[in-house]
Amino acid sequence: MATEFDVIVIGGGPAGYPCAIRAGQNKLSVACIDEWQNRDGTYAFGGTCLNAGCIPSKALLESSELFHRAQTEFAAHGIGTGAVSMDVNAMQARKGKIVKQSTMGILALFKSAGVTPLQGHGKLLSGGRVEFTGKDGAKSLLSAKHIVLASGSTPMPLKNVPFDGSQIVDSWGALDFTEVPKKLGVIGAGVIGLELGSVWRRLGAEVIVLEALDKFLPIADQAVAKEAARHFQKQGLDIRLGAKVTGCEKAKDGVMLQFTDAKGAQTVVVEKVVVAIGRRPYTAELLGEGTGVELDERGFINVDHDCRTSVPNVWAIGDVVRGPMLAHKGKEEGVVVADAIAGKAGEVNYNLVPSVIYTAPEIAWVGLTEEQAKESGRAYKVGAFPFMASGRARAMEAANGFCKIVADKDSDEILGVHVIGPMAGELIAEAVLAMEYSASTEDLQRTMHAHPTLSEAMHEAALNADKLAIDIPNR
Ligand code: FAD
Ligand code: NAD
Repeated sequence: MATEFDVIVIGGGPAGYPCAIRAGQNKLSVACIDEWQNRDGTYAFGGTCLNAGCIPSKALLESSELFHRAQTEFAAHGIGTGAVSMDVNAMQARKGKIVKQSTMGILALFKSAGVTPLQGHGKLLSGGRVEFTGKDGAKSLLSAKHIVLASGSTPMPLKNVPFDGSQIVDSWGALDFTEVPKKLGVIGAGVIGLELGSVWRRLGAEVIVLEALDKFLPIADQAVAKEAARHFQKQGLDIRLGAKVTGCEKAKDGVMLQFTDAKGAQTVVVEKVVVAIGRRPYTAELLGEGTGVELDERGFINVDHDCRTSVPNVWAIGDVVRGPMLAHKGKEEGVVVADAIAGKAGEVNYNLVPSVIYTAPEIAWVGLTEEQAKESGRAYKVGAFPFMASGRARAMEAANGFCKIVADKDSDEILGVHVIGPMAGELIAEAVLAMEYSASTEDLQRTMHAHPTLSEAMHEAALNADKLAIDIPNR
């Protein structure tokens, strides 16, 4: 095994593995160390995202959505199916297959880019050295001109509701249920709480979501948050705002959660609990003594705009550094760092990180919310278009939600785009591209969009910003 490299990446999640691949493409010698172990003890590249996050959650989301649509929409299409049933084990097996295909794919990508995969633990030592502990426990000393830390994040625990791996679980546990819980308690109405709460609700669980804040989805545009709350309520998600969980007790049929809200002290008994109150950076056994890598007060590795740590030639990317904990943000950082190491130019545009919440309807946005535009004190205008007015959305039986564009009133530059509705996560890509090129609403207005497509909603919202929409009365 080679022990000297140009680059060693510690962490093979969606930040680390693209960094290693790009370093290989840049003709640098590179190793990627990853210690992810599945429940059966097997090692797998791909980190949280591929093994226990983005990919498995979207696989279940798709299955649960099809199950729900078969029950609620097929009849309108004239399709009779008889009683629709759900085999949770088959659904989980499909998820497992998709995860395996994705994680095994990384090894093939490493091979084609000339990346040396090393499965085991990596620890940064001083002087450009890394201690590698292999699967068999054997230690070896590696060295590199540049070291990239991409160790990711782990779920935040809740002190009074400790994980027990069976009844009180984190998001990984909630992705692995083998039966639909009769009643599911979700702590935290953030992205994970809403996505996984929706999955199990669609499969038939009664779901109660306890959220400490008084405001629903404070990070989203508030018109979108209001629309989302309306749909989730209609779907039967019981979302309690201002609900602070104070403790739990094992009950006969599950867990009794204690919480306080505006009505005072309350309890609810649920079969399973998912704690989804955020994630924290993971740096356990990552930094040897005397490396000089600084952490901030919340445990994130301190980096500058270009992902340089406090130590020359040591970089850090992904969930373990500041910024949104999103796979695509980590991927961009990984690629930009690998290019910087090779002496190439590049920069992550942190103002244009798209956010997507994979619920039904889907939610996606980029840039400023209307509230943020207002707060900035600038003159702004808003254009919006409801999917109810989109022929394609109606044909899809998915005419919920809207597309909204916030633009500068004087320059017409697009400041933010917010979509709630079908395929919002796909539609937002057009907005990100437009904003990367500082497009105006007029630029979108003058861009032809195919008919009938969902993307026409973006076009019409841009037209509506100047009261020029064709397919709705302009207000
Ligand atoms: P990770 O993916 O956590 O990878 C870090 C890797 O480093 C792990 O394999 C870890 O084992 C390894 N490692 C850590 N320390 C060491 C060490 N010392 N030595 C060797 N290896 C080490 N984001 C999205 O953008 N879209 C989504 O739809 C989405 N859905 C999600 C759903 C869920 C349920 C969850 C939990 C997260 C989701 N995320 C999503 C967030 C996304 O998973 C993370 O932002 C992303 O995985 C972060 O990538 P990373 O490479 O920084 O860290
Ligand atoms: P989050 O930050 O999105 O939401 C956590 C929620 O829990 C917040 O609303 C918070 O107010 C609430 N909360 C905190 N403490 C609480 C308490 N004691 N009681 C009740 N509520 C409490 O975090 P998450 O949902 O755990 O997700 C973690 C990360 O994973 C996020 O940063 C997100 O970016 C990422 N993720 C992204 C996607 C996606 O891109 N679609 C999907 C899943 C996860």
